[in-house]
Amino acid sequence: MIKVIISHDVDHLFAKDHWFRDLIYPKMWVRSTIQLIKREITLKEWWLRCTSCFRKVRHNLDALMDFDEQHGVKSTFFFGMNQGLGMSYKPEEAKSVILKVNNRGFATGVHGIEYQDFDGMKKEYDTFKEITGFAPCGIRMHYVRFDDHTFEKLSTIGYPFDTTEFDKKNNGTRKNPYKVGEMWEFPLTIMDAYLPGKYEEAKEATLDLLEESKRKGIECITVLFHDNQYCEDYQDMRKWYEWVIQYFMESVDYEIVSYNTLMQELM
Ligand SMILES: [Zn+2]
Repeated sequence: MIKVIISHDVDHLFAKDHWFRDLIYPKMWVRSTIQLIKREITLKEWWLRCTSCFRKVRHNLDALMDFDEQHGVKSTFFFGMNQGLGMSYKPEEAKSVILKVNNRGFATGVHGIEYQDFDGMKKEYDTFKEITGFAPCGIRMHYVRFDDHTFEKLSTIGYPFDTTEFDKKNNGTRKNPYKVGEMWEFPLTIMDAYLPGKYEEAKEATLDLLEESKRKGIECITVLFHDNQYCEDYQDMRKWYEWVIQYFMESVDYEIVSYNTLMQELM
């Protein structure tokens, strides 16, 4: 059976995280308006996205955890311990949210910013441990950034796994998990942001990726879905996520597991 791992990168927490800290709102207003003109999104979605800056909470973790829990999905959530590229909340602001996710039985790790400077990378690991009282389960870099030495450094720092490796040109990486020192690298197979925005097209693209993976003998599929899309603002992507989970659950070829259980099996 092919193993499937579901994960969520938490890029946004609260609306105020972005006020005077970054440009995500002006960028979103422009992008959404272009998408509306091209009829890629509905008027309702455009309105919801444009006014979302006034919403207190920008994450959809509660609804997403409810969904995952109801479907027995042991998903993993990655939280930023540093700021950059539109991820602007501070570790202290994330603390209560991480603890809530952890208390509901989901694994939590670091959504990394620094991917080259060892000390900066170590600081993100230490900060997570300091504010939560436990070590991060693993890490994925924000914007899946890495270079030839990123993974070795993460292994030295002590992360049990990394799940960043992603081929942007080929819409994901078709590779099985492998070891870097003591650490496991779980290449990222499917990322929501690299799928077409429309439900039917996203579904088709996903089936193609799964077919290609099967042909190449991939035994582990890793899926990234951003929680900020689990709402009315992104109806098609939310529908896609619910479909993909259902698809894996109903198919005899796939079994949804967690990074932890698979690491134990691999050892
Ligand atoms: Zn991110």
